[in-house]
Amino acid sequence: MRRPTVGVLALQGGVAEHIEMLGRLGASTRLVRRAEHLTGLDALVLPGGESSTIDRLTRLFDVRDPLIEAIRGGLPTLGTCAGLIMLASQIDDPAPGQQSLGVMDIGVSRNAFGSQVDSAEVTLAWKGTAVDAVRAAFIRAPIVTRLGGAVEALAEHEGKVVAVRQGHLLGISFHPELTGDPSVHQELLASLE
Ligand code: GLN
Repeated sequence: MRRPTVGVLALQGGVAEHIEMLGRLGASTRLVRRAEHLTGLDALVLPGGESSTIDRLTRLFDVRDPLIEAIRGGLPTLGTCAGLIMLASQIDDPAPGQQSLGVMDIGVSRNAFGSQVDSAEVTLAWKGTAVDAVRAAFIRAPIVTRLGGAVEALAEHEGKVVAVRQGHLLGISFHPELTGDPSVHQELLASLE
């Protein structure tokens, strides 16, 4: 494929690290804040941050429905941490009024490993295509509590599912962009070839 253009939803959260990682892997990148920024993208990253804030901002910026349409239409998408929560069809413990995009057939529970002080960096066994292990940072990470029939678990941490794939969608609870491990982003880019 020609050099892919990957958008990073840039309403709140850890945007810069994804831009840097994707650039390092040879992708061209674009900040996504409004519907028109989705045009012509080859893939999309929904970063970590605070999912209830990201949710509110997607509605404020009128980008929620265009995101749902683009992702449902087949745009390969990686959601990390809060981004995984955004992908989910069900949030077990939402903040008041919190919605998700509902594009992936999973249930998630937020902050499942405890608070910020319980953050951890670990090496996870990974059932993706190219590598066996991923160096992962967990920061107030969610877990996947329900997997729909078309959803495959790619990694577990402390007996909980923390990485999933459903067709063109990849969702992970952790932050490889903070440890500098390129494997998950490579997995997204490899799926475009
Ligand atoms: N706990 C956060 C949330 O609910 C996610 C944390 C993160 O993205 N690092 O959105």
